[in-house]
Amino acid sequence: MGMDELARWNVVSVEVTDSDTDHRDESYKIAGSKTDWDHLFRKVEKVDELSKHEQIQLTDRLSGDCRTDLNENRISLGMVKPAQVNSIDLKPIEETPTQVDLSGRKLVGKNDFAQKLYINYECEGCKQKTPHNQHVIEWGVYEFWKKHEDPEGVIDALRLNDDSYSNYFFIGNLHHQPTAYIIISVLRFKESDMSRAGVRPQGQAGLSGFGD
Ligand SMILES: [Zn+2]
Repeated sequence: MGMDELARWNVVSVEVTDSDTDHRDESYKIAGSKTDWDHLFRKVEKVDELSKHEQIQLTDRLSGDCRTDLNENRISLGMVKPAQVNSIDLKPIEETPTQVDLSGRKLVGKNDFAQKLYINYECEGCKQKTPHNQHVIEWGVYEFWKKHEDPEGVIDALRLNDDSYSNYFFIGNLHHQPTAYIIISVLRFKESDMSRAGVRPQGQAGLSGFGD
């Protein structure tokens, strides 16, 4: 399979090793990636794909993290269930954007945009006194900016307070700035699908608009 087929809910089999340069517990690299870079895709085998029910159940089971706990315990990845989204903001990029390598997937064109997206939120059972304000590198945001002239439109596209959806933020820290956490993915599920999967939506403020 090609690397571009590494879709979000695929389960893949691949041999990995610890990274020499990245000491976060959750960071790995594909074995032999240096010597065999051109043929890396041959090492990745898709073995399964999660059904909608499995996606919902896995995401909800992993959720409940707060950046403050993750940071104190030096955990680099977490799943947040936001209880309240306060605002979505665009900030112009003034300096060279930070390189992010958490997902193992190259975020093509991420540095070609003039602005960055931030979400200001509180998570369920939040341990932080002030709301989180995290940079969002969700793929759908960049896809939106590629297709639309007005970057501000992404705020409407996120459609806050859509009661028919529940949202989760997959967050992670930065390799060279481990206390800084960003939103890697915004995951959203229809509450009707959640109920069918046996997961209670809990009526949080919704983000939606990334199609599907
Ligand atoms: Zn929190």
